[in-house]
Amino acid sequence: YRRKSKLIYLMPLEKDGVMIILSSPSGAGKTTLVKMLSEIDSYEVSISHTTRQPRPSEIPNKDYFFVDKVEFNRLIKNEEFLEYAKVFENFYGTTRTPVIDKLNKKRNVLFDIDWQGADQIKNKKLDYKLITFFILPPSKEELFERLSNRDMKDKLIAEERMKQFGRDVLHWINYDYVVINDNLEKCFSKIKSLIDAEINNGSKDYDLEFIRSHVSKLTS
Ligand code: ADP
Ligand code: 5GP
Repeated sequence: YRRKSKLIYLMPLEKDGVMIILSSPSGAGKTTLVKMLSEIDSYEVSISHTTRQPRPSEIPNKDYFFVDKVEFNRLIKNEEFLEYAKVFENFYGTTRTPVIDKLNKKRNVLFDIDWQGADQIKNKKLDYKLITFFILPPSKEELFERLSNRDMKDKLIAEERMKQFGRDVLHWINYDYVVINDNLEKCFSKIKSLIDAEINNGSKDYDLEFIRSHVSKLTS
């Protein structure tokens, strides 16, 4: 009888979902990684609102809720945002209700948001576990390559976002984990195993000194 009750005690507790934030300088690959993670059972993406124009490849209400400034301001006034920020001349924000609903249904919620949003969510100290990731490119040359390919119509966009890179990268220090997106599959596995280790209190394979020296190279 005793042994049986001990076994029951050791069974995992029913838990709410966890919040997983991925941020990065533009073009490092966080949107791609969030999409890959969202294919895992029990993972779901938080769909943001934005005043930005959709890219040709983007699907409204799936990639973003595309809204005008009037609607965005209404959501601010109604206090519907968990966080919002101005990024590259456009507004972006996460509404609270869909996120909390998913977490309460034990879904892990993925956020593709910038450092300003990550800071706001961190400061809210919600009753859900939060894991934050900062994604870095292998090099500046590779970053420019990725940005140019993605925003083919507009070289200016790629150049503008490269200028921002030096400023964005400085925020790496405020994240739980920094991961380099060189090989996509490897980067994905690294993030997944760090999340699993966090959820199960397992050991984390993470080398902060290596990251520190990579950041130095990127900013030199
Ligand atoms: P972010 O969301 O960080 O701005 P994206 O996910 O949109 O970046 O990625 C930028 C571009 O780089 C996309 O065209 C994407 O397909 C490509 N990309 C992402 N990860 C890799 C990778 N590991 N190797 C090569 N190209 C990549
Ligand atoms: P993009 O225009 O390339 O889709 O996104 C530009 C930046 O805005 C990215 O850094 C992305 O993570 C960020 N972003 C997207 N949605 C949100 C959001 O809801 N809140 C905040 N703070 N940033 C967001």
